[in-house]
Amino acid sequence: MKVVIVGGVAGGASCAARLRRLDEKAEIIMVERGPYVSYANCGLPYHIGDVIEKESSLLVATENTFRSQFAVDARTNCEAIKISPDRKTIDLRNVKTGEVTTESYDKLVLSPGAVTVRPPLPGIDLPGIFQVRTVPDARAVREWLERGSLFLAGMDKYSGFQTVRPKTRAVVIGGGFIGLETAENLVHRGFDVTLVEMLDQVLAPLDREMARVVEGYLERHGLRLALNDGVSGFKPAANGAIDVETKSGKTYPADVVILSLGVRPDTALAKSAGLEIGERGGIRVDDQMRTSNSDIFAVGDAIEVKDFVTGQWSLIALAGPANRQGRIAADVIAGRDSRFRGTQGTSIIGLFGAVAAWTGASEKTLNRIGDKDFEKIYLYPNSHAGYYPGARPIAMKVLFRKSDGRLLGAQALGEVNVDKRISALAVAIQMGATIYDLEEAELCYSPQFGSAKDPVNFAGMVAAGVLRGDMPIRHWDEAGKGFLLDVREPVELAVEQAPGAVNIPLGQLRARLGELPRDRDILVICRSGQRAYYATRMLLQHGFKARNLSGGMLSRFHAQLLEN
Ligand SMILES: Cc1cc2nc3c(=O)[nH]c(=O)nc-3n(C[C@H](O)[C@H](O)[C@H](O)COP(=O)(O)OP(=O)(O)OC[C@H]3O[C@@H](n4cnc5c(N)ncnc54)[C@H](O)[C@@H]3O)c2cc1C
Repeated sequence: MKVVIVGGVAGGASCAARLRRLDEKAEIIMVERGPYVSYANCGLPYHIGDVIEKESSLLVATENTFRSQFAVDARTNCEAIKISPDRKTIDLRNVKTGEVTTESYDKLVLSPGAVTVRPPLPGIDLPGIFQVRTVPDARAVREWLERGSLFLAGMDKYSGFQTVRPKTRAVVIGGGFIGLETAENLVHRGFDVTLVEMLDQVLAPLDREMARVVEGYLERHGLRLALNDGVSGFKPAANGAIDVETKSGKTYPADVVILSLGVRPDTALAKSAGLEIGERGGIRVDDQMRTSNSDIFAVGDAIEVKDFVTGQWSLIALAGPANRQGRIAADVIAGRDSRFRGTQGTSIIGLFGAVAAWTGASEKTLNRIGDKDFEKIYLYPNSHAGYYPGARPIAMKVLFRKSDGRLLGAQALGEVNVDKRISALAVAIQMGATIYDLEEAELCYSPQFGSAKDPVNFAGMVAAGVLRGDMPIRHWDEAGKGFLLDVREPVELAVEQAPGAVNIPLGQLRARLGELPRDRDILVICRSGQRAYYATRMLLQHGFKARNLSGGMLSRFHAQLLEN
């Protein structure tokens, strides 16, 4: 069997290596348009920031590795330019010489990735404007940063000193994870960085109130955010700088501009071969990665995938799914019955020492698709036992089905051990787990790693309390309708008060029940929701209509961020 694979990075390389492990006899050709195969594009922002100092560290495996270890005919600088599905051939062009050759195939795998969105804005081709997608892209940015600006003009050049002004100002356009990672790395390099984002939030998959917390954190670490503003064009400025102009009429001077406006599936080859393209613009495949032509498979950023939670077609440009899909395509070509389960968009980003991670559906996605059968909770457990040094709170938002408790999505922000909680919840979602399963999950524990009730268990317990009716909840946007009861200690009120709330500390509540109304909803608050839960249980058993305001004063902070 002869298999040609187009694209030699995440999906393509993974497919080639797996196929060889399954079939010693297959003839495997892997073609890559760029100069490297199997490189770590996820590390590129950190190479720009000098965290990963050597470019060679990004090259996970070379063309030679594939030839010697896997007997894969890996060809770099080799672009697939035309598929002839009827004849089952593919035309390949040597990027350096222009020579075109034709290869036949029994099976063809497309993993061409995505193309960076580059709108035709005035001045977009000016020197100093870059994208971050490939190793040569990152190299070009680094060389530009290190070169300094143009020689100074006018009187400055007669100063007798250094006539090269170092670059100090950067504008990053786009607040997705590549834009943010690159912005963070430029701050590390001492740049004054402005991030321009057309949406009203960074990290679009997060719900806005969670993204607001990230934004505040970024600003406190020196990143200037210009949200709700799109770039309208670029103009050359003095000393080789660029004026970045926005739709709101502002101008941001920059010595370097990073375009990170998102990606779209690279479907050029697929379209020319007449393969079906889906409603979201990606190559349509079945759960075995087969395209509309049964001899052609497609994987990675170029395809549409079914969202595991919502069941809707979506575009997910992530390395994990691309690698798994490459492996599945290889399995199927080798005669195995592997299937892709869909994706949940599980993601993580580290920024200035803090972490944001998420998996599954967000509240805004559920609202967008008109799903009303869900509830959300906010909770703020410690990363590990509070008595062990270094414990830090994790802000968690968990979404679940009201009708059956199925876990739908989770978002978490914090500094320590955020990743393992979202990873655990991601697996739970993929297994179709409910919040009742989370209550029972047996997770590893000792004080420096977690708590006897891990945040994952805790999320299940809180959510299950809601669904069982043990702890009815309300959210801050509904707070105006009830009697607000604050069960914190008076000393805490000195720090922050909930306007209009009556304060009866938890320890006095039993003795002061007579002060509470029996004909209204009583919305109970404390700092994070735990004491409010104890109070809610007490009040319910005394016949009051008590509700816990989910997340207490901490989630009020989220609600206020949304208002501002
Ligand atoms: C800067 C950056 C940081 C990222 N960080 C993360 C991260 O932290 N976590 C995460 O999950 N994901 C991350 N990603 C996304 C992840 O890298 C991609 O989702 C993944 O690489 C997609 O794999 P793929 O095989 O579909 O495409 P790619 O890995 O992009 O590979 C496609 C390859 O196909 C080649 N190609 C295209 N057309 C042709 C053709 N006609 N002929 C020959 N070759 C062709 C391209 O040159 C390219 O090298 C990041 C991406 C970037 C750019």
